[in-house]
Amino acid sequence: MQSDPIKCLFIIPDKSKNLHFLISGSSGTKYKVTIPVNGKISCSCPDFKHGAKVQECVCKHCLHVIFQVLRVFDLEHTFFSRCYFTPEEVKTVHTIYREHLRKMRRN
Ligand SMILES: [Zn+2]
Repeated sequence: MQSDPIKCLFIIPDKSKNLHFLISGSSGTKYKVTIPVNGKISCSCPDFKHGAKVQECVCKHCLHVIFQVLRVFDLEHTFFSRCYFTPEEVKTVHTIYREHLRKMRRN
């Protein structure tokens, strides 16, 4: 398990149906990746604030959520040319989240 030290600890929805992913970074620092209903994904890490946001791309924590937790897009997906979720994709994310919850309850 050395190859991917980033972990998703919790997924927490809020009242407005925004999804918050609590991520433990490689140095143990915790960050929050948010997929709001408007689809503009964000992360609380400095990398996202200074780099990703300016260049309109996403940080490694967002990528972890997309590839490892949700497993929604592959690298060729058009998401990566815009870096926000369309309303349709937000629905997909919520469906995956609910399946995720069901699986966790079963364990
Ligand atoms: Zn980040």
